Amino acid sequence: DAKRAGKGRCSYYTDTMLGNVQERMLLEQRLRECLLNDQLEVWFQPIVDVRNGATPMLEALARWPLDGGFCPPDKFIPIAEESGLIMALGMAIARKVVVALPALLELESRQVVNINLSAKQLMSTTLVEEMCALVDQADLPRSCVHFELTETAVAKDSELAQLQLQALARAGFHLHLDDFGTGYSSLHRLQSLPFSTLKLDRSFVIQLGHGDARIAKVIIALGAELGLDVIAEGIETEQEYEQLRALGCYLMQGYWLARPMPLAQVLAWLEQRAEQALRA
Ligand code: C2E
Ligand code: MG
Ligand code: MG
Ligand code: MG
Repeated sequence: DAKRAGKGRCSYYTDTMLGNVQERMLLEQRLRECLLNDQLEVWFQPIVDVRNGATPMLEALARWPLDGGFCPPDKFIPIAEESGLIMALGMAIARKVVVALPALLELESRQVVNINLSAKQLMSTTLVEEMCALVDQADLPRSCVHFELTETAVAKDSELAQLQLQALARAGFHLHLDDFGTGYSSLHRLQSLPFSTLKLDRSFVIQLGHGDARIAKVIIALGAELGLDVIAEGIETEQEYEQLRALGCYLMQGYWLARPMPLAQVLAWLEQRAEQALRA
């Protein structure tokens, strides 16, 4: 009977699961407050061109200060997606990037900042309009903002995703395929969508460090063959750096080069690099 079934359903929820549901609801509430109070931060991680030591790009990464530390994006981005807060979060990040760009462009007139977009954002029919308005109103060239999308985001509703990606590209935004090799990789999709760059996922860089260079090699060759840049993600050691370089990968991002930093710190970092380059 109904009572029994109800009881049965209840027993699915163990104590820890209930704890998780409560924790999640609490986090969602606190994330909502964080956005309302404009407390979300954007940090910047350099992407270095090892051919000349330049830093053509920075990746913008969301940082949520919480209880004296930071809540990791892998924890709060899924909550933002499920609760619908991702739209507000995404625009907050984009606005902060736009505010930061004049200072960055003053140091390097061709500086690019890469903004991560989630699947939900890509499915929003106002996304392209909003991004164009934001960048145009700040009098910035659209070429200084690139967007990163994961394969999974692109695969969600591939017809709408394709239209949206084409609209973004037509509007002048370059697109990067993030975490490449970990999602639903369709080479056909890769060929037909307007991506300019592949981001080789960190898991393959780790394999490389363990003596297995096969996937990294193939992805770097694929990029070259299709005329796409390849950025290697998550370089933590000199060995990984040297191996990737030997494989012909020249755009690199990882703790071994630089960690994500707040704006003031990344400006100082860029300035110091420019001075070093002048002295060399
Ligand atoms: P992602 O886009 O693949 O970003 C790269 C992640 O790798 C970042 O983690 C970065 O801090 C980390 N990383 C960089 N170098 C190294 C390294 O050498 N070793 C290791 N272990 N990690 C490295 P983070 O900042 O924790 O972000 C995690 C993910 O959360 C991002 O992965 C992205 O998918 C998502 N995310 C972050 N900010 C945003 C945002 O503003 N919007 C959206 N939609 N997603 C975001
Ligand atoms: Mg990314
Ligand atoms: Mg990535
Ligand atoms: Mg990743």
